[in-house]
Amino acid sequence: MNPFQAPTGTRDLFGPDSARFEAVVGHFARRARLAGFGLLVSPMFEDVAVFRRSAGEESDVVKDEMYELTDKGGRNLALRPEGTASVVRAFVQHRPQLPWKAWYAAPMFRYERPQAGRYRQHHQLGVELLGTPDPAADVEVIALLAGFLDDVGIRRFELKVNSMGDMACMPAYRQRLLDHLKVHELDLCEEHQTRWRRNPLRVLDCKKPACAAVRQGAPRLVEALCPDCAAHFEAVLAGLDALKLPWRQDDALVRGFDYYTRTTFELGSLALDAAQNALGGGGRYDGLAEQLGGPATPGVGFGCGVERILLAADAEGALGGVTGDVDVFVVDLTGGGAALELSGSLRAVGLATDRAFDGRSLKSQLKVADRSGARLACIVGPAEADAGTVTVRVLAGTGAGHQESVDKEDLVSRCHALLAEPAAPEPAAR
Ligand code: AMP
Repeated sequence: MNPFQAPTGTRDLFGPDSARFEAVVGHFARRARLAGFGLLVSPMFEDVAVFRRSAGEESDVVKDEMYELTDKGGRNLALRPEGTASVVRAFVQHRPQLPWKAWYAAPMFRYERPQAGRYRQHHQLGVELLGTPDPAADVEVIALLAGFLDDVGIRRFELKVNSMGDMACMPAYRQRLLDHLKVHELDLCEEHQTRWRRNPLRVLDCKKPACAAVRQGAPRLVEALCPDCAAHFEAVLAGLDALKLPWRQDDALVRGFDYYTRTTFELGSLALDAAQNALGGGGRYDGLAEQLGGPATPGVGFGCGVERILLAADAEGALGGVTGDVDVFVVDLTGGGAALELSGSLRAVGLATDRAFDGRSLKSQLKVADRSGARLACIVGPAEADAGTVTVRVLAGTGAGHQESVDKEDLVSRCHALLAEPAAPEPAAR
């Protein structure tokens, strides 16, 4: 075995896997751009207090999962476990014009027990919309997430929504929940028998049957909302209805971070196991900018996991055509000049083109061409070079094996025409 492996819970992506990853990021970038979000590139590590203060000391991510380090200057830093706190920190630092719409694509780090769809470095795509409490902003970001999944080809998902209330109604609800949990303390799961006092909301999304039973009789958050929060939630749901986005209200959707106020939401895949079906989630965090030392600024956003989206895409047979293969492979038997010229002109018109190096034999170059996944080989030997032609051979798909001689000037249009044929032959008519 090699002495060095990628660290536990991390992966190297290449070949078709990274091509699919790239396609997912591309779909997201397009959606975000179309909705007026600008890319934010921010550091992969922050002052550890950014996450402690925002997510909360009692959140799993901060308490158990954060990668913390002290640098040579004695600064206490953490590798970013989630995106929202970093974006809001950047907002507070730079104070861009409001509303501010930022998107990001970034690795996140959590010291979790690795398993399928759960890594110690995963990658999130997210948006944050700061500067408005308007429920239409909540609807816009939820619709963006759903629309993006649709672009990727993921259709089997469920949207869960809830409201966490605000400072006017949450403290009273929290007290009622504490009163309920106190009575049932000994019925809770082992972990929550010790944690319920510090973070009673966590009991609401605990997966253990013991906590689920205690939840049965617990006061409901949606029924405890103050009139303003109830009206806000109603407006969000009405917006989703107007967009014909089906939703399900879920009392257990309290999310893992302390900063959420009002709307929370999650999109879950119906094609994946429960342990890894969360594709993305987020919500509103109207107090977070202030918590990080900025002016009171409402905000709403989400993060979604690329690895999970790829798993769901696999389960639904989406992104099947994305392989990362080139379109054309240039085989040059004249010493390399033809490959230099042709690959340049084919790439210039947007055809993905590769070529061989090292002046190898025809057979060996064709082998590399086959391996590249190219549909077409453009072959130039001494005879073609003299005549100003190129031999175009169809390597795969409709017409595989077909070969023709093409004038060099017509090469680009002929390649386009041949590539427009379906990749797989049509099934024979019955
Ligand atoms: P969270 O910030 O925990 O809501 O995570 C947002 C999204 O990131 C989730 O819905 C998942 O798609 C993804 N995600 C979170 N943690 C991991 C992980 N350890 N490995 C892979 N994906 C993750």
